[in-house]
Amino acid sequence: MEALRSTFVHHVGTEPFGLESFAEANDREDELVSTVDYPPRPSLDLFLDYADYVIDRKDLGSLHRRAAVDTIYELPGETGLRLETTVGPIDTDHCVLAIGHGGRYRWPDLAAGLDGVEHVWEGFDPDASANRTIVVGGGITAAQLACELSETESVALLSRHPLEWEVSEADPPWINWSHIEEHLHEHLPGSSDRFEVISDARNAATVPPYLYQEFENRIDEGELTLAQGAVGSATVEDGSVRLSLDHGLQLLGDRVVLATGFEPVFDHPFVDRIGDELELPRGYRGMPVLDDETLAWQCEDGRSVPLYVSGALALGTVGPYAPNIPGARRAGDRIATAIARRLRGSRADSTTESAHGTEVSD
Ligand SMILES: Cc1cc2nc3c(=O)[nH]c(=O)nc-3n(C[C@H](O)[C@H](O)[C@H](O)COP(=O)(O)OP(=O)(O)OC[C@H]3O[C@@H](n4cnc5c(N)ncnc54)[C@H](O)[C@@H]3O)c2cc1C
Repeated sequence: MEALRSTFVHHVGTEPFGLESFAEANDREDELVSTVDYPPRPSLDLFLDYADYVIDRKDLGSLHRRAAVDTIYELPGETGLRLETTVGPIDTDHCVLAIGHGGRYRWPDLAAGLDGVEHVWEGFDPDASANRTIVVGGGITAAQLACELSETESVALLSRHPLEWEVSEADPPWINWSHIEEHLHEHLPGSSDRFEVISDARNAATVPPYLYQEFENRIDEGELTLAQGAVGSATVEDGSVRLSLDHGLQLLGDRVVLATGFEPVFDHPFVDRIGDELELPRGYRGMPVLDDETLAWQCEDGRSVPLYVSGALALGTVGPYAPNIPGARRAGDRIATAIARRLRGSRADSTTESAHGTEVSD
């Protein structure tokens, strides 16, 4: 990708215009790509350089520990949480689960384990030589990959549905918390009603219109062809992969690259483990039941464990932008406030306790 899909106010910093100021200060305004019917979008390089700048300025590197968390327990006396990790246990007052989609990719049954079939996010090498690639998928990843590969080889893009063109991941009002409160929080946390509102609102498997021209050009040049249908069977013959579609058409390629997205994070084994260990409730399709104000995962008995959720796993509370940058921002605002409030509360408690202690000892 050359530029983000989202606008220049969506980045990892806390100030909405921070990236724009960074671009101005470094004479890089030309990397704010103007977009029809949408605010400018930052180039990927500008976005990443600004992220590095934020990380350096806030010295976030010094806070980073590299390990995989296996499970999470509550410490005795509700004093915090213990994370069991690949580098040993870590005790903490608060924990935020921000595991994204959890690293599980969607492999259609027919394609799993077949030679010559790869997933774009799982070991795919874009530079491996091929004369003809079949890209499977109907969203931005599939479209972008098909355009990119068709610069050097022949590409067939296979989608189950007609390509749909949408500028953003959901209608922009869904970025605003008041809109989320009004249209999502009116339903019970964890309910199927919430799930349906989000499914309707999210422009899943859509392609932004700024790719349209490039797409058309590639098709006109004969390097890219579009096919629509579901795969009925997949076979490998003489080093080529043959996809037979359910309506009879057959596609042949040196390789098949799946751009078929992620498995749902709600039923991720890691999420199951944590939910079971801490006895935290799950809603429809395994959605964690979060407090709408703080994004803390609620206990059945109303008790609060200092475990907060951001990203794709918070979809049921943060709405259709939860897996994206604007959602992370909304979640960050709420979680940071909740943690600060909890810390103030525990400080006030310990002050009262020590005041009591003085009285008693006096
Ligand atoms: C090509 C592409 C383009 C995109 N463009 C945009 C865009 O323009 N705008 C936008 O808003 N979004 C865009 N997105 C989506 C964007 O990537 C997500 O918004 C963002 O990465 C989500 O961040 P996250 O921190 O929630 O999750 P992730 O970035 O997925 O991070 C999850 C982290 O959790 C870690 N983790 C998972 N499980 C464990 C565990 N058990 N223990 C320890 N660590 C764990 C992972 O290693 C990873 O570091 C794009 C995505 C792609 C792939």
